[in-house]
Amino acid sequence: MIITEAGCTVYPIVVPTPRSLRTFNFYLLEEAGSLTLIDAGVNSEECWTAFLTAMAVNRLAMKDLDRIIVTHSHQDHIGIINRITFDHDIPIYAHHESLHRLKRDRDFLQFRIQFFGELYESLGCGDLGLQQVEKLKEAASMNEHRIAGDIVPLYDGDTFADMQVIETLGHSPDHIALYNRERQWLFAGDLMIGHMSSSALIEPDQFGRRTPSLIQHVASLQKCLQLPMVKVFSGHGEPIYLYKELISKRLQHIYRRVNRIWQLVASGISMPSELGMALYKNLYISDFPFVMAEIIGCLDYLEMQNKVGKKRIGQVWHYFVF
Ligand SMILES: [Zn+2]
Repeated sequence: MIITEAGCTVYPIVVPTPRSLRTFNFYLLEEAGSLTLIDAGVNSEECWTAFLTAMAVNRLAMKDLDRIIVTHSHQDHIGIINRITFDHDIPIYAHHESLHRLKRDRDFLQFRIQFFGELYESLGCGDLGLQQVEKLKEAASMNEHRIAGDIVPLYDGDTFADMQVIETLGHSPDHIALYNRERQWLFAGDLMIGHMSSSALIEPDQFGRRTPSLIQHVASLQKCLQLPMVKVFSGHGEPIYLYKELISKRLQHIYRRVNRIWQLVASGISMPSELGMALYKNLYISDFPFVMAEIIGCLDYLEMQNKVGKKRIGQVWHYFVF
């Protein structure tokens, strides 16, 4: 549904998916005579057609499009960028940590593989960790999803087209939300999804450091609690109106999970991979990177609270309660 308010119009582009995400959402925003695309779906005919249809139905021409902004560099938010910029040279804006990911920088991909190899070894993940590293090598060698064109780096607090860039790290190390203070709208990417929790995934930053993703995700949710909002445009699913209730529900869920991990560590399970198996059973194998991201995120959180400590035995970290 198109939303118009005092010279500003949002044209949501909503593409259904059978995945648990339900929809890929991206947005055309027309404001003060300029047209911005916020996020770009997956690289599929469905997303491309939905974009072209939204443009045509609303009598927007490709030459009217001034820029593309991505909330983060995940593949389901950047899909049709190259199709647009192929013969339409416009700037792409993204968080400064997105640049080497969007450009598929070879050195970065190489040390990302090494990072995960060392990380999974240090968490005691054995063969499953090695298998995951093989998958990463395969993905890097295919070199898909490289974004062509100029990318302009964004920093927290930057403003343009009446929107403020709000750094909201955690789901990814390059996540931003876009806030329109006057209208109290937030384009939230994957920071907030109405029907499901958003994961805080593990990634190295450009210097090879592991980002404390769950701690960051909690801080980002708390940051957004301080913003007055009437509507949150999410990267997936329905728009969110009761954002305070939703954020509070998500935070409670995280705190319960952190507490559960603390109980397991207190019961004597010290190795992160064993915590993953104990808590997630079969999902530990089927959803390995997500499970380990959650375990390590919770352990980071407990370390920050001084509730657990860790020591290295051989190559593997073991956690204990204080
Ligand atoms: Zn994402």
